[in-house]
Amino acid sequence: MNTFPIFNKKNTPILIAGPCSAESEEQVLKTAHALAKQNIDLFRAGIWKPRTRPGSFEGVGKIGLKWLQKVKQETGLKVTTEVANTIHIHEALSHEIDVLWIGARTTVNPFSVQEIADALQGIDIPVMIKNPINPDLKLWVGAIERIYNAGIKKIAVIHRGFSHHGESNFRNIPRWQIPIELKRLFPQLEIICDNSHICGRRDTLQKVAQKAIDLNFDGLMTEIHPNPDEAWSDAAQQITPKIYKELINGLIVRSLASDNPKFIETLEHLRLEINEIDNELIHILGRRMKIADKIGQYKKENNIAILQTSRWNEILDKQIKKGNKIGLSKNFMSILLRAIHQESINHQAEIMNKK
Ligand code: PEP
Ligand code: MN
Repeated sequence: MNTFPIFNKKNTPILIAGPCSAESEEQVLKTAHALAKQNIDLFRAGIWKPRTRPGSFEGVGKIGLKWLQKVKQETGLKVTTEVANTIHIHEALSHEIDVLWIGARTTVNPFSVQEIADALQGIDIPVMIKNPINPDLKLWVGAIERIYNAGIKKIAVIHRGFSHHGESNFRNIPRWQIPIELKRLFPQLEIICDNSHICGRRDTLQKVAQKAIDLNFDGLMTEIHPNPDEAWSDAAQQITPKIYKELINGLIVRSLASDNPKFIETLEHLRLEINEIDNELIHILGRRMKIADKIGQYKKENNIAILQTSRWNEILDKQIKKGNKIGLSKNFMSILLRAIHQESINHQAEIMNKK
């Protein structure tokens, strides 16, 4: 894919902000005027809202598009809204919406994404694609490809986290490795962090925004409401324009590179050290697997089962404690040990099942 950036901003984050939903002309314009003063790059507002359960507010519908046109006239801001089907696209286009976005509940469904792609055939408008609600990178890539194949070249992606079951501090778990992998595969895609839908609450918005910037994301999408507690959707996560200003001013944006020779030399040196350690780690893991092979052979000759739970629990427990003492988190240790253990089992199984 050979996509082009939508925003093409250097050095400072792309800022997309606006209410979760357009509720009234007054609410939309009030928010937009406040945000225009803060030099945001794109004003967002949901007109059609995909709500989890029926009976909640499902958006004001196309009358809201007129309010967005007014935002453009009065503030000069560019505007974006979510589209999920052909009718939405025709309405959005006939009301001069500048950028379209595809929501997380739409990205999951290839039929819907293809319908959108077909409706966009031959039309030149930038599209932002949110991650699917489930942590499936291929599905996200598939949606990007469908839109790209329709001839849309200006594409960006929005990371809004992933659904889960059970307790979490996040409304949608970020699973940062998924957007990072997407960026590795398609470095030219601008990647925006929707901190509002990841957090689902106000007090963690800043921290998640900073994390995204530290991970070299290109920008942020944040929900803003003049009176968040009264919002008709996603009240718990929306903030006022004033709090938004503080959030943005509080961000530390680090540059990607430096031309200070001392800095370059030091970094180069540390990276070499890391490379050497990585080489050693791989070598040691290889040695460990060779021993697993021997054990496999020995168990085979004596007709003993591969998995011995008591031995495994003992290793896990002991090594997690050791790791902890030198600053390796329990979570990391347990993922690492489990991966090593699984590879050992695979090696042994191969040997034991060899005819
Ligand atoms: C939204 O941006 O308001 C929205 C509905 O988001 P998502 O598709 O990420 O749930
Ligand atoms: Mn929302």
